[in-house]
Amino acid sequence: MQTIETPRDMQKLAEDHRRAGQSIGLVPTMGALHEGHLSLIRRCRAENDVAIMSLFVNPTQFNRQDDLDRYPRDLAGDSGLAREAGVDIIFAPTVEGMYPQGYQTSVTLEQLPTRWEGTSRPGHFQGVATVCTKLFTICRPHRAYFGQKDYQQSRVVRRLAADLNLDLEIVVLPTVREADGLALSSRNVLLKPEERRQARVLSQALFQAQADVRAGQRDATRLHAAIEDRIQTAPLAVLDYVGVCDPETLVPLEKIEDRAVAVVAASFGTTRLIDNALLEP
Ligand code: AMP
Repeated sequence: MQTIETPRDMQKLAEDHRRAGQSIGLVPTMGALHEGHLSLIRRCRAENDVAIMSLFVNPTQFNRQDDLDRYPRDLAGDSGLAREAGVDIIFAPTVEGMYPQGYQTSVTLEQLPTRWEGTSRPGHFQGVATVCTKLFTICRPHRAYFGQKDYQQSRVVRRLAADLNLDLEIVVLPTVREADGLALSSRNVLLKPEERRQARVLSQALFQAQADVRAGQRDATRLHAAIEDRIQTAPLAVLDYVGVCDPETLVPLEKIEDRAVAVVAASFGTTRLIDNALLEP
């Protein structure tokens, strides 16, 4: 396994692999790896000749300095896990390497970021869209792997890849969860024990909505209210948003006709968590 730091070296290496006729897979991460990341890496390993994992805590997608400052970092641990899971190349650039003096270009989408995470975290998706575009240009992947855990992000990335005619396949894999349903997240380690215990209410509310839809509920307003009520049974949960929406556009629905997605965000203490579930009749 190699670790590459500069965009220039990474781009050259990727170009060499492409010239040799090898397929390249990329898993973009911010590190603090857990089983969710590892599921993406294993799939990337299985489907490509060369598996690249990028490891970059991208400051431009954080709208709060304290969130960026306390984001967990563990390069040594991450390298071991990445190696075991079959990563060939870790691309771990510096902030200065990605955004040198004079940098001023960004990628923005017009509609997808106008709600949910986009309004709760102003500038977040511009940061995500820009860094992903840069990572795609630097690592030259044939396939890039993302988790459904960050549902809106996966839609943003699919959209920008299509809109900008990027010649790569975006693969989105299911959310990996703890035994009690809590979606794995690098931020989970920041939860205090009682916050951690109550955080399972998010997935419970989503699973209940899935069951309600399977049982015939089609009224999105009722589903929305039920999810909200369930989350509010946890005294430590401070609800940010609940949305029952179109799975492509993320526009809220009134009635579920085909497929829908429920998205939620709530804080437990100082830790903000998000989750989602597809609702299928
Ligand atoms: P992050 O390091 O949080 O930026 O996440 C890197 C990638 O891992 C993103 O595509 C996430 O959606 C994905 N990911 C994070 N948590 C999970 C999870 N619990 N299950 C599946 N994928 C995940």
